[in-house]
Amino acid sequence: MATLDRAECENRDLSDPLREFRYEFLLPEDVIYLDGNSLGARPKGAAERARAVIEDEWGTGLIRSWNTAGWFELPVTLGEKISGLIGGGAGTTVVTDSTSINLFKAASAALKLQAADAPERRVILTQRENFPSDIYMLQGLADQLGDGYEVRLVDDTEVTAGFPNTLTDEVALVVLTHVNYRTGRLFDLESTTAAVHAAGALVIWDLCHSAGALDIDLAGAGADMAVGCTYKFLNGGPGSPAFIWVSEAHQDRFAQPLSGWWSHENPFEMSPEYAPAAGSRRYLTGTQGILSMSVAELGLDIFGRVDMAAVRAKSLDLSDTFIELVDTRLSHHPIEVVTPREHEHRGSQVSIAHPEGFAVMSALIERGIIGDYREPSVLRFGLTPLYIGFAEVWDTVEALRDILDNRLWDAPQHKVRGAVT
Ligand SMILES: *Cc1c(COP(=O)(O)O)cnc(C)c1O
Repeated sequence: MATLDRAECENRDLSDPLREFRYEFLLPEDVIYLDGNSLGARPKGAAERARAVIEDEWGTGLIRSWNTAGWFELPVTLGEKISGLIGGGAGTTVVTDSTSINLFKAASAALKLQAADAPERRVILTQRENFPSDIYMLQGLADQLGDGYEVRLVDDTEVTAGFPNTLTDEVALVVLTHVNYRTGRLFDLESTTAAVHAAGALVIWDLCHSAGALDIDLAGAGADMAVGCTYKFLNGGPGSPAFIWVSEAHQDRFAQPLSGWWSHENPFEMSPEYAPAAGSRRYLTGTQGILSMSVAELGLDIFGRVDMAAVRAKSLDLSDTFIELVDTRLSHHPIEVVTPREHEHRGSQVSIAHPEGFAVMSALIERGIIGDYREPSVLRFGLTPLYIGFAEVWDTVEALRDILDNRLWDAPQHKVRGAVT
């Protein structure tokens, strides 16, 4: 193997089959953007699309645009595009609401299925290290249901081992985030789903940190339901709506508590009687933000032209390169690579821990290298294969080396925290 230096990184960029996709995004010239796992980059056409929605569809079309501009169909139109990326199958996915809200709907519906089939099961398992909103939503749901429903937290090691200790006959539902947001640990969709099913429980996957980063086959894995967001790897824009997927097997019995008019079989009948729509519209609630949804479509359309196997291959090359450079060039500093080194356990980010993590990240951001920081002491670098290259990984690790060697993080401006880290 060639020596890993900047020239070799440039060579890897030159032979990168995804290189051209970088030009689909607008990023500032002087920035290396390693936070696309938190807020994806802006697709080139975003401003033009927003302008067209405001001036033409809203300004001129006015209310007619619900029909003539396809507004009413957007949750399904975009859902079909996501479905292609997550192996959902036709008619199973919609884009709507936020991940937190969709998780509440999916978990409610899953518990209702279990209440009919196995009413003694009242426990929800989820990862202790899950993104906190997922845990909070499940706790809120369990409180709302009362009646013995409870959330139990399990360690990531327990999940990876196939739940040797916790998947008892009290468990109704297991909610798992596919890639740990902090460490980047990836859980195996297929074998984990099989383990949950073998114990008589249902599984909901949260794909926030894997949709658009990995090849996913929900239907092939036999999963029950899934949720995820579009503003991270899918580049939908700040606060763009999330998605919800329900397997064909459960679709007809999917009953959710947020049963607003958009989930009705005939919303404009204005009937006082609720009847759920057939198909994926039954996961909806009410009117959606059309501006945000319209812009989110651009990110999905880019993915429509991408080979996800190539994305995954480049993602692993990028993270291997990052880890190798940290190992070889930063070994004289107290740095620990938190992200698993085995490919089968790694998502699309590299997280490293340093005792002064917050200040170090602040110093990096000051020079235009944007990652983020998560408690405790973790520097996170999202690797988005569509617009990040190998030379940028090299430059990032070299900047880190300079900051650490010269203690550039040890300055007052790097100790001040904003509301969002
Ligand atoms: C980003 C993320 C969310 C965000 O939820 P919102 O409702 O969009 O705020 C939820 N769960 C996981 C696992 C995430 O990574």
